[in-house]
Amino acid sequence: MMATDKKHVVIIGGGIIGLTTAYELSKHFKVTLVEKEKEVCLGASFQNGGVINVESITPVNSYLSFSGVLKSSLISLVSSTPSNTFLRPSALLQPNFFLWVKHFFLNTSQERILYHSKGMMEMGSAIKPLVEELFQDLRLKRAEHNLHYTPGLLLSKVSDPSLTVSNKKKMFDEIFPKNYSIGADLEQIKSSSGIHGVEEYNYGCIELNNITVNTRSLGLSLKRKLLERKVEFIEGEVSQVITNEDEVQGLKLKDGGLVAGDLYVVSAGYQSSRILKNIEISIPLMPIKAYSLHLPSSRAAKNWKYAVHIDSSVAGLFTPYREGVDKHELRVTGIRDMDGDDPTLRLERVKHLTEVAERFTGDNWRQEEVRVWCGIMPVSPDDFPVIGGTRRYSNLFLNVGHGFRGTAYSLPSARLLSQLLLSRLDIEQERTRFCFNPKFADPSRFGI
Ligand SMILES: Cc1cc2nc3c(=O)[nH]c(=O)nc-3n(C[C@H](O)[C@H](O)[C@H](O)COP(=O)(O)OP(=O)(O)OC[C@H]3O[C@@H](n4cnc5c(N)ncnc54)[C@H](O)[C@@H]3O)c2cc1C
Repeated sequence: MMATDKKHVVIIGGGIIGLTTAYELSKHFKVTLVEKEKEVCLGASFQNGGVINVESITPVNSYLSFSGVLKSSLISLVSSTPSNTFLRPSALLQPNFFLWVKHFFLNTSQERILYHSKGMMEMGSAIKPLVEELFQDLRLKRAEHNLHYTPGLLLSKVSDPSLTVSNKKKMFDEIFPKNYSIGADLEQIKSSSGIHGVEEYNYGCIELNNITVNTRSLGLSLKRKLLERKVEFIEGEVSQVITNEDEVQGLKLKDGGLVAGDLYVVSAGYQSSRILKNIEISIPLMPIKAYSLHLPSSRAAKNWKYAVHIDSSVAGLFTPYREGVDKHELRVTGIRDMDGDDPTLRLERVKHLTEVAERFTGDNWRQEEVRVWCGIMPVSPDDFPVIGGTRRYSNLFLNVGHGFRGTAYSLPSARLLSQLLLSRLDIEQERTRFCFNPKFADPSRFGI
């Protein structure tokens, strides 16, 4: 019997991160997953398409300007003009808000952006092999989970396209040379892309092999297969983590129940901050709300060739979304609201995103045709997940902070956590070959 057979891991949170963590850990440990909702994937991991954005190696600090968010929020409040990013006062009340802002600024230097880009590149290159491995291992049907490889296209409006390309090359080429496009070449791409109204965009960046996968259907399939593999699912809200001096001893549930194991993993999305605060661990995670529209079968959906990301003032992502074989939809995501933990779907934000959708698809949508959703993402200050053990409690581990790319990053994150656990327990030879360098994700960078 392997030593791990004796170990029992309890995971908090049944979003895509908790589920993929359970999938990886169940290969080596006895696993219990605690989820407060009646079903898994009802939080941020709901109706999204799991695309790996173009320019996904660029950390959030290089495109999310904090002062820009403040300015556009003020202008928007005063003039009632919609802005793409918005900060509401409720965001200030979130646990560790100022800690997040501090680390955000500490990570805005070019040096730090490049450092994290390297991490994203390493983690990013592990995604495709792990997705393929998972689909094969669990015998999942690709069409049922909307698994596709779609080229990505980022469009921006810049003052000097040639200079932009040479600056990008100077900055990123050493890490990840990209396929930039300007001039006649870009015009050709734009006209074949299916997208409308993009005449003013004069800079493009193309990535082949963007992966799309339907997060919720993948999550539900994972749960089904994990049940077959004897993973235990408990419906209950963790209200308290019970600890002694240096170990977690158990979890108290809101209904009074207790769950105990040998090792614990927190993967409760943005709500992880509150859970950890109770045991005096301050983790800087900003809850950021994003919206998505699913537009029904249409000319636009069928003709769409790229996962198109329109930058700056729009910051929308248009992804072909296919459920089953015949159902063509277009998914439009966008808007980043620092709205605290308020889950309200704000109608003025839906209206704004619908206008964006109509502008770029050239279609008009009847409100009742459109499926609308918003979810709250756990965004870390350097846009890189927080994966690994905590210094304070020897049996407590984290897999959180996946922000805008949680579906994309879920499998490498879960594999790394599993490798770190095995290595910590001195169990497997795998420990010498981590799926990406754990230093990038180490919780100690935030003093945890
Ligand atoms: C509109 C939108 C579009 C997106 N598009 C993409 C995309 O194209 N590609 C991509 O890769 N990513 C995308 N994302 C980001 C991605 O969805 C998230 O990064 C990811 O879902 C985060 O997963 P998670 O498991 O950490 O969080 P969640 O899915 O929120 O899961 C956390 C779980 O923990 C549970 N929980 C919380 N507290 C407790 C408690 N005390 N006790 C028990 N359970 C608890 C919650 O109920 C929840 O189920 C998008 C997000 C949104 C909102």
